Parts: sequence; C-alpha cells; structure tokens
Amino acid sequence: MARRRQLYEGKAKILFEGPEPGTLVQYFKDDATAFNAKKKGTITGKGVLNNRISEYLMTRLAEIGIPTHFIRRLNMREQLIREVEIIPLEVVVRNVAAGSLSQRLGITEGQRLPRSIIEYYYKNDALNDPMVAEEHITCFGWASTQDLDDIVALTLRVNDFLTGLFLGVGITLVDFKLEFGRLWENEEMRIVLADEISPDNCRLWDAKTGEKMDKDRFRRDLGKVEEGYQEVARRLGILPEAGPRDMTGPEVMQ
Ligand code: UDP
Repeated sequence: MARRRQLYEGKAKILFEGPEPGTLVQYFKDDATAFNAKKKGTITGKGVLNNRISEYLMTRLAEIGIPTHFIRRLNMREQLIREVEIIPLEVVVRNVAAGSLSQRLGITEGQRLPRSIIEYYYKNDALNDPMVAEEHITCFGWASTQDLDDIVALTLRVNDFLTGLFLGVGITLVDFKLEFGRLWENEEMRIVLADEISPDNCRLWDAKTGEKMDKDRFRRDLGKVEEGYQEVARRLGILPEAGPRDMTGPEVMQ
C-alpha cells in the first residue's frame, strides 16, 4: 500500500491523510512526554493499548449519544477518525484533587472534591498550555459562548458516564483531559469529542489500594508503566492480545 501523507506529528500520535475526504488516520506511538516535553521516554506497547482503550471508551460514549470523531479501529496502532477543526483548548475535569490542582492550591492529593471542577487550558506549547478563563476563550475567539455551553454539557456527561464505567471495574477516575473539534456537515456545525481518552490523559487509581495506573507512573518514575496501562485494558476486558472471541467485556468488581 502506498505510504500515506503525514499531516501532523504530535508527542504521542501522528495524523495521516485518510482514505476518503474528511477522514484521517490517527497513529498511536509508544513515545511519552511529560512536563511540556522536558521529560521524554518510550513506554513499550503504549500505542497499542491506548489505541484499543480509546476505541473502547469512544465507542461506549457514542452509544450514549456523545458525538465523537472516532469511526473505527484499523489495526493495532491506527484508527480512522473524522477530520475536525480542533478547538485549541484542553478541557480538564477533576473529581479528586491531584497533580497541578494539589500543587497550585495546596489541596491534599486524593481528597475527593465536593463537586466536579472543569478547567480550561489554552493549547499552546510555546506558552506551556496556560490555564485560561471563559472570558479569555470568548474574547480571543477560540470558542464562542454557545460552543462552551456545548463543551460543558458534553464534558459533564462524559465525566458521569466514565466515572461509573471505571468504578464498575474497580478504578477511580480522578481527573482527565478532553479535546473537542468542530465538525461541519452541510451548513451545520457540531462540536464533537476528539483526540483520545487513555491512561495518557486520565488519572486512574485502583479504587481499593489507590495504586496509580496512568501516566503518573511515567511522570513520577514509579516503574511498571506499561503494566499500569495493561491493567486498565485488562479490567475493561479489552487486552489486545486477546482475540475478539476472548473479549468477555468488563470485569465487574464487587
Ligand atoms: N493532562 C493531559 N495533557 C496535558 C495536561 C494534563 O492529558 O497537557 C491530563 C492529565 O493526565 C491529568 C489531567 O489532565 O489527568 C489534569 O492534569 P494536571 O493539570 O494535574 O496536570 P499535570 O499533572 O500534567 O501537571
């Protein structure tokens, strides 16, 4: 097959031109970065696991009516997605204090928040993805008030659904990051969930022991990084080693 044209290479993924207009191929790499690429490394097998985990979560979300860019998985490392105009925001949802929230505000890591918090960061590596308020977003035209209303509504639904889904397999969804894009269909514009949902952009802790099963294992040099990602896939019942016949679905925890 002819090599596809590469459109963009990010830290963990590459985007290629898709087979039909309006589609792209999203390739998942094993590369990992943290602290705005100041720390770099490779997590063997991460791309395969994230491709599978993201496919699973996006599919479950589509089933409850969340519009996403995901079309289908093509192979171990690639998925077909709809080409969208990415809104330059990282939308972070927090259910439990951790990471930058704990550091900035001195809230003990692990403290459950009285209600979920949504934060926005402006996607700009040169500026270190600064946190921004709704006023900045609308003032500089990154998204309209209507876009933000849609983004908040979708984000809260995603959070409720994923919190329950992960809790069912014994995992606490501490926080995560979403990205959204604009999809044009005829004259209509729709905001859809884009990027990926995986242990690269979620904090996932074992509900009983608090053990981390996400990128913090890499960020904080905790070791067994790949094992953490694998455990998430195993609990969701989607370890890629298992063929489709062996996929028994989520392992429900008591
Ligand atoms: N996050 C992400 N990409 C980023 C920054 C954060 O996916 O560029 C995710 C991160 O994995 C965590 C959540 O967003 O699940 C909140 O991250 P936090 O603000 O605590 O940042 P960090 O710990 O990365 O400094």
